[in-house]
Amino acid sequence: MERESMEFDVVIVGAGPSGLAAAIKLKQGAIEKDTELNVCIVEKGSEVGAHILSGAIFETSSLTELFPNWKELGAPLNTKVEEDEIYVLSSDTEQKRVPHLFVPSTMTNEGNYIISLGNLCRWLAEKAEELGVEIFPGFAAAQVLYASDGSVKGIITGDMGVAEDGSHKESYMPGMELHAKTTIFAEGARGHLGKELIAKYQLDENKETPHYGLGIKELWEIPSDQHKQGLVVHSAGWPLKEHQASGGAFMYHLENNQVVIGLITDLSYSNPYLSPFEEFQRMKKHPLYANYLKNGKRISYGARALNKGGLQSLPKLHFPGGMMIGCDAGTMNGAKIKGSHTAMKSGIVAAQTLLDKLAEGLEYGADHAEISKKFDESSLYTELQLQRNFGPAQHKWGNILGSAYAFIDINIFRGILPWTLTDPKPDYSTLKPANQCSPINYPKPDGVLTFDRLSSVFLSNTNHEENQIIHLQLKDDSIPLNENLKTYAEPAQRYCPAGVYEIIESDQGPRFQINSQNCIHCKTCDIKDPAQNITWVTPEGSGGPNYPNM
Ligand SMILES: Cc1cc2nc3c(=O)[nH]c(=O)nc-3n(C[C@H](O)[C@H](O)[C@H](O)COP(=O)(O)OP(=O)(O)OC[C@H]3O[C@@H](n4cnc5c(N)ncnc54)[C@H](O)[C@@H]3O)c2cc1C
Ligand code: SF4
Repeated sequence: MERESMEFDVVIVGAGPSGLAAAIKLKQGAIEKDTELNVCIVEKGSEVGAHILSGAIFETSSLTELFPNWKELGAPLNTKVEEDEIYVLSSDTEQKRVPHLFVPSTMTNEGNYIISLGNLCRWLAEKAEELGVEIFPGFAAAQVLYASDGSVKGIITGDMGVAEDGSHKESYMPGMELHAKTTIFAEGARGHLGKELIAKYQLDENKETPHYGLGIKELWEIPSDQHKQGLVVHSAGWPLKEHQASGGAFMYHLENNQVVIGLITDLSYSNPYLSPFEEFQRMKKHPLYANYLKNGKRISYGARALNKGGLQSLPKLHFPGGMMIGCDAGTMNGAKIKGSHTAMKSGIVAAQTLLDKLAEGLEYGADHAEISKKFDESSLYTELQLQRNFGPAQHKWGNILGSAYAFIDINIFRGILPWTLTDPKPDYSTLKPANQCSPINYPKPDGVLTFDRLSSVFLSNTNHEENQIIHLQLKDDSIPLNENLKTYAEPAQRYCPAGVYEIIESDQGPRFQINSQNCIHCKTCDIKDPAQNITWVTPEGSGGPNYPNM
């Protein structure tokens, strides 16, 4: 098909912290070298930040590297962490605070800020544009564009106006080709183009299996006498421990009497009846959290998968014509539950790799293998190397024993123990058959602290054009009923935090329904479906959540 095209030196897919940091560093470097460099970013959200969801406690190292004077420039970092509390919850009412002495050093937050990562991305986007980066929000990179020699030549943005049956509506507009000498993929965890590139170029050869968690988060406004600006609370144990699952909860007190509360469920759980959404609702009723939330008001809701694999599962970061950075590759520091500064650092490393080549000129299809050396010599490598055993230890021994191991490995031995733990079982293969597990009876929402999925999705401002090709593609339509329902009581009904997947009972028997318009782009179905039958692809235009400040 004939498509219009545009030429750039560098095209970046995704205006998250990694993509924006790469773009800023590239333009700063080009200006320093007095060289022209055309850089553009495509972003699937309706605006920068609309699809960004994070905790977020932010470590400033990478921001300082880009803008040493970020404070004077007005970066939206307003709340310094004042107090760190970590608890082990042993039941729905009991809690034990972990003495500071035994807290893994990775979990202390002195000098860090509680922020909205979406707002930081909006600010970074302004700075990038001031430097001359072109940003196209509302344009998803739907396909990788390959040159005849097999290298990446750029991307193709999604077609608009294609009806569910594939026919062209009046509003039909074919996507554009964006050609680039180098394309940097920065889609965040489980990027759908990233997944294709990892498979095509075997970037994960000799690497460990990647792992993921699902983070579900709400933003609340609470009475001022229950609010402690700068307070950070983390907990492990109940409720996930009741189902032999692991993960952790968080509550951060921002400015303006706002708090964020969330639960990260490791997607390696085994009971197909488990619902990360319902576990999160239950968790809010624990006195540790309920006492802060009572008489408060829920403002926003969202969810997103995050990487938990660590250094050993990081794929090769380069291939002919492109590079992969941030959580698309998996640069998150799981032990710290922080991936924003590491994502930004990986963007800076990618940019520095290209800047070193500017004098000789960038070439189409070049494979910038030098990024590996730069990465190995960077502070990012040192940081990820130190925490490499954290994730596998949690999976092997659970939150409590896993954290005790991490304390010894990280605090006492500073990561020099001569072994690297692994967890070769992919998250999609950990479910036990439903007949070996007990169904979980979750309580009905009370409408005060706990809610249902639909009213939650409403607060994520999610919107998709009605009549379009379903962006949750099944390789085999029969698997949900014939395999997943029979063996696992179709877990998609429960792991999806937006109620997209339903089994509808009727006189003709059960029917599998996909309510794709509710999808909040968390990517969990792409990760956890036991048959790996669901592929998440980009929907039309700017479809998806519209998070104000998540
Ligand atoms: C619940 C939760 C809590 C967290 N807490 C913290 C924390 O406290 N501190 C911390 O540092 N980190 C935290 N993280 C991790 C942190 O959010 C990520 O590591 C970080 O956002 C990764 O940045 P990124 O740029 O790689 O990807 P993302 O932030 O995911 O950004 C990717 C961007 O690319 C866009 N995109 C994706 N695909 C396409 C496409 N095909 N075309 C166009 N655009 C596309 C997306 O819309 C998005 O804007 C948390 C994550 C979660 C989910
Ligand atoms: S359909 Fe998949 S990507 Fe969308 S919200 Fe549900 S689990 Fe997440």
